[in-house]
Amino acid sequence: TTAQIGVTGLAVMGRNLARNFARNGYTVAVHNRTVSRTQALVEEFGHEGAFVAAETAKEFVAALERPRRLVIMVKAGEPTDAVIQEFAPLLEPGDMIIDGGNAHFADTRRRERELRAQGIHFVGTGISGGEEGALHGPSIMPGGSTESYESLGPMLEKISAKAADGAPCVTHVGPDGAGHFVKMVHNGIEYADMQLIGEAYQLLRDVAGYSPAQIADIFRTWNTGRLDSYLIEITAEVLSHVDAATGKPFVDVVVDQAEQKGTGRWTVQIALDLGVPVSGIAEAVFARSLSGHAGLREASRGLTGPKPATLGESEAATFADRVEQALYASKIVSYTQGFHEIAAGSEEYGWDIDLGKVASIWRGGCIIRAAFLDRIRAAYDARADLPSLLSDETFAREIAAAQDDWREVLVAATRQGVPTPGFAAALAYYDALRAERLPAALTQGQRDFFGAHTYRRVDREGSFHTMWGGDRAEVSA
Ligand code: NDP
Repeated sequence: TTAQIGVTGLAVMGRNLARNFARNGYTVAVHNRTVSRTQALVEEFGHEGAFVAAETAKEFVAALERPRRLVIMVKAGEPTDAVIQEFAPLLEPGDMIIDGGNAHFADTRRRERELRAQGIHFVGTGISGGEEGALHGPSIMPGGSTESYESLGPMLEKISAKAADGAPCVTHVGPDGAGHFVKMVHNGIEYADMQLIGEAYQLLRDVAGYSPAQIADIFRTWNTGRLDSYLIEITAEVLSHVDAATGKPFVDVVVDQAEQKGTGRWTVQIALDLGVPVSGIAEAVFARSLSGHAGLREASRGLTGPKPATLGESEAATFADRVEQALYASKIVSYTQGFHEIAAGSEEYGWDIDLGKVASIWRGGCIIRAAFLDRIRAAYDARADLPSLLSDETFAREIAAAQDDWREVLVAATRQGVPTPGFAAALAYYDALRAERLPAALTQGQRDFFGAHTYRRVDREGSFHTMWGGDRAEVSA
């Protein structure tokens, strides 16, 4: 038998992806460094479809029809290079290596270049949806050559999630590292969404005085409206869960130190390199790292703050509505920032990414899937060269309608001492963008004063410098 596709790396993701291909009628060659995993897969799930178990790399490659399609689903980083080095010598021109791990897009660009020299298509592919998504349909973000997508696209469309309108959640994002770049930003946006939801929860608890179970109900209600999304849905589930051992809300027995694997951090690092202000995403990454500084937090416990006071019942309900507005407005801003980063990456690397398509393939399967993404898609469909999501009429109108409540929520948070870096950064971004004048003019004056860095004038072309140390005359620079 020849397999149409092969998967090497059979931990949770690879195993489920292989099963997904098999369940969709493909013959799947499976391979793993530790052979027992391959055997376990075939023993447990062999009845689901056609698997060809391969013990060695040679057997694995021999099992594949040509041109070969070989999916790598191993730990990102050095293991990926090790696996490529193991398989590449066994492949022929025209064969495809699909890396479905969470690779850094710069690594993907390097690997693509190296393998292209050998005539092998390297397809760095972002896959989102976790274990469940891999099995039932993930959102898939492939980069690599157009030619490779012609061969792979139909298979990926089959195993991918489908949006509500039936469209498969996969598209050829762009050449070389474009897919992994977009997956990286997806994760950055995911961090921001989670942080904003966390802030909403904290406000509902500490300002409105609601219990986790009550907050779960509020999130359930929100989930029937414009915030309808997977993350809001699971938030309600987590908040209503009660710890069996203690009878306490689950959220109260979990150590409040958030961990991260790195894709959110990359999103911010790359944004800094590209000069894109992703302040909301950055605050989300920083909030996780702050939470993890246990010693610093312990040492800061004695610092004073305002006296906590919670609202009465009807005020609390009004406040909850306001928090919904603040959350929605802040969410618009974090997606605005994330899409700006994708546009900037596309420009820098010549990827020609279709932003509307990106929004479209995030509508299903992935962690940030939401009704909201349909609106983003519509915004870019209406105008592909939209300078910013905030310039879309619908979003601008919605944020205008939300802003009074958004500001009130931040006033309450500040007065009560509830940290809301995500909400605050989003509002600051909004206010800075719409500002007539920014203090950047003063910054330029300071820079010219201490470093003769020069400045431009509002009324004349050219660069200028003021002789700060002398008679303060202005000279053309
Ligand atoms: P892990 O990231 O835990 O990786 C384990 C797999 O990598 C095993 O199959 C292991 O083989 C293999 N491996 C590790 N080092 C080597 C090596 N040097 N040579 C050969 N094989 C090696 O597995 P996951 O399934 O969690 O994730 C796979 C990839 O998917 C990762 O890149 C991850 O970032 C990405 N991803 C994960 C998601 C998730 O929700 N978990 C979501 C989206 C992407 P062995 O059995 O022999 O140890």
